[in-house]
Amino acid sequence: MTPEDHGTEALSGWGRTMRRVCEVRRPDFDGSLLDAVLGAPRLTVRGAGKSYGDAALPVNGVGAVLDLTAFDRIVSFDEGNGVVVVEGGAVLKDVIDQTLPIGWKLPVVPGTERITIGGAIASDVHGKNHPGAGSFGHHVLWIALLRSDGAIVQLSAIQDADGFWATIGGMGLTGVILRAAIQLQRVDTGWMIRNRRRTRSLDETIAAMRAGGTRQELDPERHVVAWLDAHTHGASLGRGIVDEYYAASTLDLPGAVAPFPETRSPGSRRRRSLPGPGVVTGATIAAASAARWHLSRSANSQLVTMRSALCPLDRADGWPAAFGRSGLVQYQFAVPPNEVGTIHEVLAYLGTHGLTPALATLKNLGLGTAGPLSFPIPGWTLAVDLPARLLRPGIMHPIDKLVAGAGGRVYLAKDAVTDPELFPLMYPRWPAWRRTRHRLDPAGRWTSGLAERLGLLS
Ligand SMILES: Cc1cc2nc3c(=O)[nH]c(=O)nc-3n(C[C@H](O)[C@H](O)[C@H](O)COP(=O)(O)OP(=O)(O)OC[C@H]3O[C@@H](n4cnc5c(N)ncnc54)[C@H](O)[C@@H]3O)c2cc1C
Repeated sequence: MTPEDHGTEALSGWGRTMRRVCEVRRPDFDGSLLDAVLGAPRLTVRGAGKSYGDAALPVNGVGAVLDLTAFDRIVSFDEGNGVVVVEGGAVLKDVIDQTLPIGWKLPVVPGTERITIGGAIASDVHGKNHPGAGSFGHHVLWIALLRSDGAIVQLSAIQDADGFWATIGGMGLTGVILRAAIQLQRVDTGWMIRNRRRTRSLDETIAAMRAGGTRQELDPERHVVAWLDAHTHGASLGRGIVDEYYAASTLDLPGAVAPFPETRSPGSRRRRSLPGPGVVTGATIAAASAARWHLSRSANSQLVTMRSALCPLDRADGWPAAFGRSGLVQYQFAVPPNEVGTIHEVLAYLGTHGLTPALATLKNLGLGTAGPLSFPIPGWTLAVDLPARLLRPGIMHPIDKLVAGAGGRVYLAKDAVTDPELFPLMYPRWPAWRRTRHRLDPAGRWTSGLAERLGLLS
């Protein structure tokens, strides 16, 4: 690849806010990667571009984007011990396609399989099984990191532990994750059993989540998630549907059912039909939410495929477009276990400010990693999808304050709006991360819109 191959493109995050016209470097072998890195003073590393905001976008007019998606090989897989070595640009879907049919699964899968290994590590992604399984970083054995001076270093919990944990959740600001070894987990089948409970209030939702959370702590394969109908008020605010999934064994399957049903991800099937561009309005979503709640029933022992249970949004590619030209912001925060009141206040604030979320999901979180910028802390995480067109400057500031005041934090992989002054309160171990980052980035090359907006590199 020569410098002339670097094209200019318009990019955005998955939320389709903050579009940037920028130079994109797409190296496709090790030598061209080195040239692309050493030839650019400022670079933003990008995987599949599924972070919602500007984590994988450059600052306007500063530097180039380094697209890693050509580095997508599964380098090796040991069927005996379940250790897979993968390039940073490989997507989770490909790893799952190769390993699930032979009884090994990624221990942590976020709401989409279409992200890269590099993106999963850099955001330290979590699934719906966090209390028992932890986040992606808990299962990474080592990382080969390309530093900004061209050196490749191996990081693990033993070999430069500070560098390892600064990279896990480090939002691509310590270097390029070239390869990583991940410990997979054995499974008997590719099926899960779903128990569903419809709840009539936030209190009921919380009680069901807490009961599920206790079971989750003992079982890394137990996934719990609540969808909240955010369009209700008063006593019914926070009513919803709590789904709890656990791994099905072969004994749970009816005779004719094959243990491993799928080789394709949910997204490769026919897409779920979604409203056309720009039709997410208060009225359409309120009607759809009410219908969803009224039509659902509490029910136990439903057999569902693992992949459809874990990644429902992979069948809904049109979701961001449904928010119109300005796109959607997903605001996701975590607060400690005793801060249910903050969840209530956030929902109430959004409702009274005309910002009722189009989608609101609540998950349990368990212990975090040693990564100073890793998002998960024990407690709750609420994610709300909001039309960007309604977010006037500063409108989310009171929520940032509530979250920071409760000892919580926002999720950087989704962020587009957080107040930079509150960031150090939300991530108190940031100074330690900054020191390690400076050591790993001697050339001061790595940057991103997110990093500059929140002052992460200062
Ligand atoms: C539908 C949907 C559902 C989601 N559900 C969840 C969920 O349940 N849980 C959750 O935790 N997240 C969830 N996410 C967020 C998503 O998992 C993260 O944003 C993830 O980081 C995206 O990975 P990516 O490959 O698209 O990376 P990008 O968006 O391209 O980049 C994300 C970050 O990773 C860095 N990065 C990417 N590749 C590398 C590399 N090779 N080396 C170094 N740094 C790199 C980038 O610089 C950037 O900071 C969801 C996203 C979507 C679209």
